[in-house]
Amino acid sequence: MAWEPEARIACARRLAAALVLALLAAFLPAAATARPIVPAQLCHASTGAAQTPSDVTRGGLWTCSSGGWSIAGESLYLRFTLDRAEPPPRSFVTLATRYSRVTIWAIDAGGAVRTATLAPDAARHLPTGPLMVLPMPPTSAATRTVIVRISHPWTKAAGSEARLDSSPAGSGWPIRQVVAMAVICGLLVVPLLLNGSIYAALPERFVLWHLALTGSMLMQMLIGTGLIHLLVDLPETVEGPLSNTCYAVMASAALMFAADFIEPGTLPRRLRRLLRHAAAAIFAVGMLAATPLAAMRPYSTLLLHLDMVPAILLFGLAAFVAWRRGSRAAVYQAIGWGPMVMAGLWKIACYILPPAHPTDATVVYQLGLAVQVLVTTLGIINRFGDIRRERDYATARARELEGVAGHDPLTGLRNRRSIEKRFEDLLDNGFRTMAVLDLDHFKAINDSHGHAVGDDVLRAAAGALVDDADTRAIRMGGEEFMLLLRGADAAERAERCRRAISTRISAEVPGLDRMVTASMGLVEHDRAGRLHVDFAALYAHCDRLLYEAKRLGRNRTMRERVTGFTTDRADLRVVG
Ligand code: GH3
Ligand code: MG
Ligand code: MG
Repeated sequence: MAWEPEARIACARRLAAALVLALLAAFLPAAATARPIVPAQLCHASTGAAQTPSDVTRGGLWTCSSGGWSIAGESLYLRFTLDRAEPPPRSFVTLATRYSRVTIWAIDAGGAVRTATLAPDAARHLPTGPLMVLPMPPTSAATRTVIVRISHPWTKAAGSEARLDSSPAGSGWPIRQVVAMAVICGLLVVPLLLNGSIYAALPERFVLWHLALTGSMLMQMLIGTGLIHLLVDLPETVEGPLSNTCYAVMASAALMFAADFIEPGTLPRRLRRLLRHAAAAIFAVGMLAATPLAAMRPYSTLLLHLDMVPAILLFGLAAFVAWRRGSRAAVYQAIGWGPMVMAGLWKIACYILPPAHPTDATVVYQLGLAVQVLVTTLGIINRFGDIRRERDYATARARELEGVAGHDPLTGLRNRRSIEKRFEDLLDNGFRTMAVLDLDHFKAINDSHGHAVGDDVLRAAAGALVDDADTRAIRMGGEEFMLLLRGADAAERAERCRRAISTRISAEVPGLDRMVTASMGLVEHDRAGRLHVDFAALYAHCDRLLYEAKRLGRNRTMRERVTGFTTDRADLRVVG
């Protein structure tokens, strides 16, 4: 995929624009929507299973302030006192939670009481908020009090977020809010897909952690916004533990991500290790909170909220320390997590501090979450650029060094070392003809024209040696060169090079008193002749042929074809 800077900037722009749209949608003034009934008074109590509404009243157990919520007892009682001006309630709406039974009493001004007892399957989940709707017993304009008993609720917010609604179908979030949440869910899919393709190009572990983080956030968000009910109708017994599991994965994946993502050198090793260990512990505690054991019920949500505190603190500490040491990743992390951590801390404080009002805070929290994922994704994209640049640089540098080490500085040809290393490869790729060339009476040029002219002659000779897809030209040392060739006409091409040396030298080095020639020893061998063919053996063979060419008067080629165990010799004498 194209990960050029322009593509990355375009991607970042699109993500940012979508986020701005989501924010705008979330905070636009609401159009008229179904109005929940505002009670004149709402009181609550946590009691044992046996207490009746009269017991609660007689015992003076009602708490009529917005705080002091508890699910320590088996029953959570709610008492709505209704104003005459309000329409009669038709449904009971609250934060979706597990429960064993809900009993609702509708009490009229005249004292008439109607009751409904509802099993868990009576709850209908809304796709427009993390809410469930329960039907009311018949009510009328005379209904003044509604008492609701939730048996075995799993979260305090099931009481603190409860309300009566004038519509039998109940009402969820205003549609703009649902749209905003849906947009954010859609946004989360982008980093999810992006991570997949980034991982293909950059197989770093932190990309996988981010994938786990984004995946669990998306899942949690689908549940937390109720949008999942557009897709499947999961029962609360599945949804609750699943949502808690998502929190456990999120917190631990976030820590693992930070441990891997923050640049090496900016995070002390001990702190990095601590992040990883804490991630494992936080995951374990989170999974315990997600356990659907009845004994866990009063503590499950509390434990999950408490579990997030060390995750947040550790994360903050790591980001701070790394930032002090100049980490850019830490800055991304801090900016990204800021809004979500604030919303999370507020949500946690509301839940764990007794006088506070346990709140769902879904919208603020989800917006923070979206900011987090998007900023972190931008961080990854940015890091992707850095890492790729580093890699490209390292590869280029390695090639450069290899080039410097593998080439002869005088002629620019490959040197012996570089070709020896790759000889087996070349053989496998069909380079089965080796020719060794040596300039004739080269010493005499040095002697009569000087070393500099000698160098010019060497450069000109090198220039005559073709180096193309089927030919490798090498300077073996001094005035000795090698050609490795493939193809049916390999020997002829080598011979042409040998002859070209003379022409080239006379064209490029003026003032020489005689033609400079070269002698050549050449061995061709086919597959069947690959017995004992290693570089040194073949080279020695060529060298012997070269020596013979010299002995026979120079300016000629001695050539041998090796087929299996037989060899054909030929003295290709060419008079220069
Ligand atoms: P023959 O025909 O038998 O090959 O004789 P020759 O003179 O070519 O061979 P010899 O081995 O006697 O001499 C090679 C000379 O090449 C000796 C050495 O000083 C010279 N030489 C080696 N490397 C270089 C170099 O890089 N530059 C120059 N100018 N001369 C070099
Ligand atoms: Mg020589
Ligand atoms: Mg020589």
